[in-house]
Amino acid sequence: MADGSQLPRSMMPARPQIGRDRGGIQALDRAFLILDIIADAGGEAKLTEIAGVAGLHVSTCHHLISTLCNWGYVARGTLSRSYVLGPRILHPSAACLRQVDLPRRAQGYIDRLNDQTHEAVQLAIMQGTSLVNILRREARHALRVDTGLAGRMNAAHATATGKAILAWLPPTELERIVADKGMTAFTPNTIVDLHELKEHLRLTRRHGYAIDREEFQPGVICIGAAIRDHAGAVVGSISVSSPVFRATPEHLEQIRIHLLAATDELSMELGAPGAILERTITNDHERRRRTTGRHFLGEADVSAYQRQDLAGFSDTRHQKAWVLGDPDQLTLATKPVPVPRRAEVLVRIDAVAICATDLEIIHHGPPAMIQGGLPFNKNFTPGHEYMGTIVALGPGVDEYKIGQRVTVEIHAGCGQCKRCREGMYTSCHNYGLNYGDVDKGHRANGFTTDGGFAEYAVNHINTLVHVSDEMSDEEATLVVTAGTAMYGLTELGGLVAGESVVVTGPGPIGLLGVAVAKALGAQPVFLTGTRDNRLQIGKELGADHVINVRNADPVEEVRRLNGGKGVDYVVECSGAPNAVNEAARMANRGGRICLAAFPHEPAEVDIAHIVRNNIYLYGIRGEGKSATHRAEAFMAQKRFDATKVHTHTFALQDLPEALRYARERVEDAIKVVVKTHGQPVLVKDAAE
Ligand SMILES: [Zn+2]
Ligand SMILES: [Zn+2]
Repeated sequence: MADGSQLPRSMMPARPQIGRDRGGIQALDRAFLILDIIADAGGEAKLTEIAGVAGLHVSTCHHLISTLCNWGYVARGTLSRSYVLGPRILHPSAACLRQVDLPRRAQGYIDRLNDQTHEAVQLAIMQGTSLVNILRREARHALRVDTGLAGRMNAAHATATGKAILAWLPPTELERIVADKGMTAFTPNTIVDLHELKEHLRLTRRHGYAIDREEFQPGVICIGAAIRDHAGAVVGSISVSSPVFRATPEHLEQIRIHLLAATDELSMELGAPGAILERTITNDHERRRRTTGRHFLGEADVSAYQRQDLAGFSDTRHQKAWVLGDPDQLTLATKPVPVPRRAEVLVRIDAVAICATDLEIIHHGPPAMIQGGLPFNKNFTPGHEYMGTIVALGPGVDEYKIGQRVTVEIHAGCGQCKRCREGMYTSCHNYGLNYGDVDKGHRANGFTTDGGFAEYAVNHINTLVHVSDEMSDEEATLVVTAGTAMYGLTELGGLVAGESVVVTGPGPIGLLGVAVAKALGAQPVFLTGTRDNRLQIGKELGADHVINVRNADPVEEVRRLNGGKGVDYVVECSGAPNAVNEAARMANRGGRICLAAFPHEPAEVDIAHIVRNNIYLYGIRGEGKSATHRAEAFMAQKRFDATKVHTHTFALQDLPEALRYARERVEDAIKVVVKTHGQPVLVKDAAE
């Protein structure tokens, strides 16, 4: 078999005629019919409906379903007396997909790899104990080498395709293959000792790819990687071979990158996010050890890695996530790891910061809105200021790579309304419309869709901001907060250099508002508040003057310190009842006010003063117009030190305690961060 495209496409045969006179076994006919009916109903159907469609008595139908339940082909549904297709269905389905679909699905990736590397590419599977090549593309170079297509049946131990598969088999299976096929020495480099092979396969698992350095064919180096199905099982492998004379480290690195991208994407297409997760967790830690010199592997990762070593793969299709029940009631639950669709990626969350809005949502509900209503008891996971590592790509995504660190904006607008088209996706006209018949695709993490108090989240690529390796996880969670301040200043007019700015309220947005205004060249910058320690941090972030409103009238102080005229811009981050009136009196004639806080109560406002003085008022929601990218650029250039607002770090399982620290400002907490893969202990990093 040379070309997978010649295989017949899998086609759904028509339902056969049934009945005693057809010579079939009636009970079997009826059992298959029941499976068909449940599938036709979309995967779940009531007993009475099934019996009705099948033309059976309810009791007969129930008998048949009981047998199917015993086998696991049917299971109880969520409604009373309803049934769903059982998990065992996946077993024959997967086998069917493997035999028919793999070459066809792999074809495009094989061609792409061949285009990218110009080298020979092959797809292989294990059949019993034999390694079988089922697809191959020749090298595009005039000078080709024989990579030894024939005679591979007993070469699993010596080839990259073979080792990429063997690495993930249980030890007994590996021993069975070696006992059956032996360990032929094809070249002086071939590994012929089982112990040595096992050690080599352990490294293969660790690296996520296999390499054959002239172990099968002299003069040929080959790199292979596994393909996994929806259940995480290895179903085959792809390898790329290069002659030794072309195999410079750079060329091999290019091959490796393209190969891993192809096998990851193909595995994703077969439904296997888990396959990719394990490998990138390991790779990511290695990368960070390299770049930071620190060892980041937490307990949880060590045990996951050991599990993987023992069993070949571990269950990475499920994750731990905090779920909101009644108000103020959070439970650590198990949820499926979501699968990224077109233009989406799966992010393994590394850190998430707690925001005052999270406390609002968990206690009151709004501004979160799930399925058009309050977020309680809807299996909803809050949390919106998170960052992490990309571990899987949806179809067609080439803007980001697996293993990249990103921080995530909250809002992905629908992309099709007037405001989204203007870049104002935080003001999307289809806000919260992402369910049922009104699904417009709008997403706001932790507001209208699942958020970041979890291990994994799916995100639209438009919401991602790449973060540099030098930036810590904790600092990266603050990019969105700085981005909100940046968006406010941009909307006020953007040209802040040499203009005077007051920031009222030294919460995280206010403090970073000072930092961003100063980085944009504002002069002078004022900060008002009630806590001296926070005002001090504001000074460290660049405030020229700080005013404690308990000791002085902030309006008088601002006007006095700015030549009696008031300031050009006020960024209101306090939410205090009289904040708008004070802001209007701090602003000069023609000045602009950005309202960035959510006050609890409606406020009385002196509108006449605002009109007489031609003062502009801007309501600002979130971080539109890609402001986070500009904020990240400032942070990457170290124009200000956002980590000054980060005070505490907790592990994911200690979220309730972390929330208490944020709510009650225990130990002067400002930004409290939760690390999903951290140690289960409190780490206190008091801001100096
Ligand atoms: Zn927030
Ligand atoms: Zn929109």
